[in-house]
Amino acid sequence: MQYRRLGRTGRQVSLLGIGGGYVMLQNIEQGTQLYQRAADLGVNYFDGRYGRSSTMQRPVIAKDRGRFIIGSKTASATHGEVLRRIDEDLEELGSSYLDIYFLRAYNHTMIDAHFAPGGSVEGLLEARRQGKIRALGLAGHSDLTALARGVESGLIDVIEFPLNYARREALVQLVPVCQKHDVGMVIMKPANVGLAPVAVSLPWLANQPIHVMAAGVSTIEHLELDVSVLDRPTMALSLEEEAEVECWRQKTERQTCHICDKVCQAVCEPGLPIDYLLYHDVFQNELRRLGAKAFTQYPFAPWVKQQAEHMFTDSVARLQTCTRCGKCEEVCPYHLPVMAMLEQIKVQKEEVLEAIRKG
Ligand code: SF4
Ligand code: SF4
Repeated sequence: MQYRRLGRTGRQVSLLGIGGGYVMLQNIEQGTQLYQRAADLGVNYFDGRYGRSSTMQRPVIAKDRGRFIIGSKTASATHGEVLRRIDEDLEELGSSYLDIYFLRAYNHTMIDAHFAPGGSVEGLLEARRQGKIRALGLAGHSDLTALARGVESGLIDVIEFPLNYARREALVQLVPVCQKHDVGMVIMKPANVGLAPVAVSLPWLANQPIHVMAAGVSTIEHLELDVSVLDRPTMALSLEEEAEVECWRQKTERQTCHICDKVCQAVCEPGLPIDYLLYHDVFQNELRRLGAKAFTQYPFAPWVKQQAEHMFTDSVARLQTCTRCGKCEEVCPYHLPVMAMLEQIKVQKEEVLEAIRKG
């Protein structure tokens, strides 16, 4: 495992980390086994508090707390609320401190609220004085210029944002300002939600000036695959690999939602949660990565399949309310074929429901 200096925190962080969203597809015991396997493979960065992820991590980090870099997040915008959330997180994690506490900031309005007098940034500064957190973070997947404004405040130590072979805008909008302020960079969506193989997406990302990829991994098998593709004598891509990355970029860039603050959702009369369906839905992202047959046979916790059946039934019903008015496509700044993307999701979900029904 390669380690990099996490900006001005000065910590050495593993190039591969674990984002908590996907491990939630396992029960607590399996989740703890996954985190333990990650630790054994040299991973020392875990994003925390997605559902029960802190509970899963607790016994693993307790053995050697100083080795791990644990981040947690909140969208709370007030001083008092953020301090309350930190205390809850510490209780769940069984630790006296968190290494990084991220404030979710998707747009400039959220940045204004976090940095306002009596806002959450003041809360984080107080938590740091009390020794409950070590570093201040911002995290967002929408407007990267808002995150850049937060970095320019000089108060932020670590930023978490999306970057992958298909979504490269952060290289221009955010990375230079992070470098200027020596801010640590944690990457979400490193594999572009399963749209390209990790053997293509992760080595490309390893060649960018980032510090840790918070990969979404749902099983030990998935984790070991990610670790293996980064276990290379050199991170530099060969000419053939660069050509393959370019091929996947061209193939998937028109399927890649940039989660641009619900621009399309605002014009959708039936109120479809378009960005969620296209990019956020963990069940759908795993279905995209695995395909319908493999998804139904994958060793997720038993509740996951029941939940998937319930959620897929619900979202197929919602997708059927699409009137095909085309307004989402008219406003999409990336000119995505949103209607065809939603239709593909509907068909995939129907396939899973059919497979579940057949047992
Ligand atoms: S085409 Fe469908 S998803 Fe798009 S805005 Fe119209 S109703 Fe909503
Ligand atoms: S407008 Fe386009 S890029 Fe933005 S959230 Fe909607 S589909 Fe995604």
